[in-house]
Amino acid sequence: MRLSVPNIPPSILSKSALRKTQGVSSAEAVQRIASFLSLGHTAVLTGAGVSVDSGVKAYRGKDGRYMNPDYKPIFYQELIEDSPRGYSFRQRYWLRSYIGFLPVRRTIPNPTHHALAALQHAGVVGPLITQNVDGLHHAALRRILSEPEVDQRILELHGSIFKVNCQHGHVYPRTVFQAWLGEANPHWRTFLAELERTGAQPKTNPDGDVVLDESVSYDDFVVPHCPSCEGEGRRNSIIKPDFVFFGETIRQDVKDRSYSIVEGANRLFVIGTTLATYSAFRLLKRALELRKPVLYLNVGPTRADGLPGVDKLEIPTSAVMADVVHAVV
Ligand SMILES: [Zn+2]
Repeated sequence: MRLSVPNIPPSILSKSALRKTQGVSSAEAVQRIASFLSLGHTAVLTGAGVSVDSGVKAYRGKDGRYMNPDYKPIFYQELIEDSPRGYSFRQRYWLRSYIGFLPVRRTIPNPTHHALAALQHAGVVGPLITQNVDGLHHAALRRILSEPEVDQRILELHGSIFKVNCQHGHVYPRTVFQAWLGEANPHWRTFLAELERTGAQPKTNPDGDVVLDESVSYDDFVVPHCPSCEGEGRRNSIIKPDFVFFGETIRQDVKDRSYSIVEGANRLFVIGTTLATYSAFRLLKRALELRKPVLYLNVGPTRADGLPGVDKLEIPTSAVMADVVHAVV
């Protein structure tokens, strides 16, 4: 099986470079978004672009290409391999993630998250599907609604950075697992406490793993075993974050729910994403097949560029979304 990091097809990027950007004034964009949303039950699909203002790095820059060409994610099959090689992948992953979780935990929702939460609360937009694993839509809506209501209104298509799971279905809050990692690795816990004390910012990737110095050895890092598995008489260190890795498929129930959200809405509002990932792109395709109007808000090329039925506005979300709330609510 050939595995690759999802990317925007080069043909679209080159066409897009030739196409003249349709910039709009923020007043015009606000008016067009507001009239689109006020027409009915809208589903929302978001991506990394909405979290950039919270300091979460996007994988792709304005030209749609990877910002860090050397970025090599760990693939699902490597992380769950039941072998010494698999364990060393987990050592590397979890050490970087242990350090990288610190800035992730500090991020807070930005005006775009709050605007979308306000629109959801006012009933202007319906359910929201996000490709982000950063929990920031949850954090914004949690200020207004209870946790079960929040879970009902937001679908995290690719999972969440705030949970971990083992291969036997045991799920733990990430903060709990973080503490276990610290207990098993006291000298890294000291290192992390020092980072926290000095406020130094390690360089992180969007899924929260940190970029460590080449000289760092991962060999002595201890990945804790799953305690529930241990209780069932099994030693199991195959624990992964509860989000979809490169090379991993989305759970069927999540996929079904994402389709039913799009099918149940009258229209689709896509915001802050290139839709390079097929699991998200196929939702837009589904909306178009069903002839639902699509409004697309993103700066830079996307996989949907040039598709008939997609109305695209090239303007940063932060410039308009708060005003959209005032215009609609
Ligand atoms: Zn387990």
